[in-house]
Amino acid sequence: MSIPVPASVVPAPAPAPARRPVESPAERVSTPVDGVEVLGALSPSRASDFMTCPLMYRLRTVDRLPEEPSPDAARGTVVHKVLEDLFDLPASDRTPERAADMLAPAWSDLLDIEPALADMFGGDGPDQAAWLASCRTVLERYFDLEDPRRLEPAERELYVEALLESRLLLRGFVDRVDVAPDGRIRVVDYKTGRSPGEGFEAKALFQMKFYALVIWRLRGIVPSVLQLVYLGNGEIVRYEPDEHDLLATERKVEALWRAIRLAQETGDWRPSPSRLCDWCSFHQYCPTKGGTVPPLPEPPAPLAGRADASVDESAD
Ligand code: SF4
Repeated sequence: MSIPVPASVVPAPAPAPARRPVESPAERVSTPVDGVEVLGALSPSRASDFMTCPLMYRLRTVDRLPEEPSPDAARGTVVHKVLEDLFDLPASDRTPERAADMLAPAWSDLLDIEPALADMFGGDGPDQAAWLASCRTVLERYFDLEDPRRLEPAERELYVEALLESRLLLRGFVDRVDVAPDGRIRVVDYKTGRSPGEGFEAKALFQMKFYALVIWRLRGIVPSVLQLVYLGNGEIVRYEPDEHDLLATERKVEALWRAIRLAQETGDWRPSPSRLCDWCSFHQYCPTKGGTVPPLPEPPAPLAGRADASVDESAD
């Protein structure tokens, strides 16, 4: 079903900006971007939050309540960092052993940025050595799926944003972009979890189509292949989008945005319980879990944006 895209001969660019930038031109409502007033900004993660549960979206994006650090999320961050940096090495050095050696420094760098992550371990939490070993297992699985010695990504951790005609700004970080000599584009995303079961692929592909839409708007080229690399169970899922797919994605994103704005206007951020509640940190604020929804934050001063649903500071 998929068309293999040859590795790019384009050399890797300068390091991409760090994930989740603190500042971005679209963090504030009605902020001009290139002279255009932006209505709001949306990343695939926050769009997915709202689709999963409007109350979770509100607590995370409007209330900005703190969340417990999670070993799974930290594993994802560390493994992504190693897979990004791996391509800084000469091709012949991109081996499983070198990648494994890069894990501890990547973890140490993350701890420097977020020292509280160390509190996840010990006591009732997992053992740190066992957790690091699980990172190594996930990383080793990558080499069963791809041979990085034969790849020269055009971009890694690429920040992309595109303004739709509706003046909604879409943005996000793409793990990897490969560009073939004939210009075909492959968008690659690493997942440290398992591939979704039957019937749940659409949600994972939505994120990829979101990125493909942004790249299409930016470069005028529909990516040939969207590739999800599941390191949790060693599986690759590929999809070949076309313009109809991406136009449908654009309509879906616009409709989501209208739903978010409606929730903001009506204050109706209803919970939507599902099995994904197991991964939600907001049980104490959720009526379906016996919790109490906190009052909405005070409306911000104009343009301050702190309690505005359109302020989505995430970009992944
Ligand atoms: S526990 Fe479930 S229903 Fe409640 S906020 Fe979280 S995801 Fe939504």
